[in-house]
Amino acid sequence: MDTPTLAVWKFASCDGCQLSLLDCEDDLLAVAGRVRIAHFLEASSDVLPGPYDISLVEGSITTPGDAERIRQVRAESRLLITIGACATAGGIQALRNQADITEYARAVYARPEYLRTLATSTPIAAHVDVDYELHGCPIDRRQLVETISALLAGRRPALPAHSVCFECKRRNTVCVVVARGEPCLGPVTRAGCGALCPAFGRGCFGCFGPAETPNAPAEAALLRATGMSDDDIRRIHRTFTVAAFEEAAPS
Ligand code: SF4
Ligand code: SF4
Repeated sequence: MDTPTLAVWKFASCDGCQLSLLDCEDDLLAVAGRVRIAHFLEASSDVLPGPYDISLVEGSITTPGDAERIRQVRAESRLLITIGACATAGGIQALRNQADITEYARAVYARPEYLRTLATSTPIAAHVDVDYELHGCPIDRRQLVETISALLAGRRPALPAHSVCFECKRRNTVCVVVARGEPCLGPVTRAGCGALCPAFGRGCFGCFGPAETPNAPAEAALLRATGMSDDDIRRIHRTFTVAAFEEAAPS
């Protein structure tokens, strides 16, 4: 069998998830030996023509050109995997979905009439079929390596659906809410980061998006007990994944 080809694509994003791929170091070398990197402009200008076996897509759809290009990427890809909060939920740039984009453009650009932008920032899955999603801002490199390795081995990637709280318990991290009264979205946030923020004594702010079965009323009561107002709770829910927490579990 020919060596499978891997392509990496960028849409509206900060490149942080692609950098996580470059940051895989030894793991990446092991994977790189088993795939042919055919398109990865962050790493090389050497581009092979499609179709591609696996496409990793970073970033959200924010322009009419993006909306057209993602359809081309889908047509050229056997498996399409979205990477990061931008690609899976619209990202921080989707904060504009709840505002007037014309106002923003006028405030930021001297000549906004030259902009060709959509009123919203939307996840890739709102435009084309997606085979797997890796969450986080940025993604966790262990999840990335697990996903690529699993697909090369012909099995489903083992990706968690439980919450960050489980990871705190697993690594013996003292609960920041109970011990210090810190607000934390860990009980309703998807695991994957290894409970990074609580391990450093601060609450989770939900960059991996909602876990599969979040208990929103219990979480809201916990956040109110730490002193957050309902407005603060709405804001923290919207930081990385905009409406995802509210849609997953309306309070
Ligand atoms: S998800 Fe976060 S790290 Fe990844 S591209 Fe978007 S803003 Fe950057
Ligand atoms: S603890 Fe929460 S905010 Fe911190 S990296 Fe993990 S998911 Fe993101």
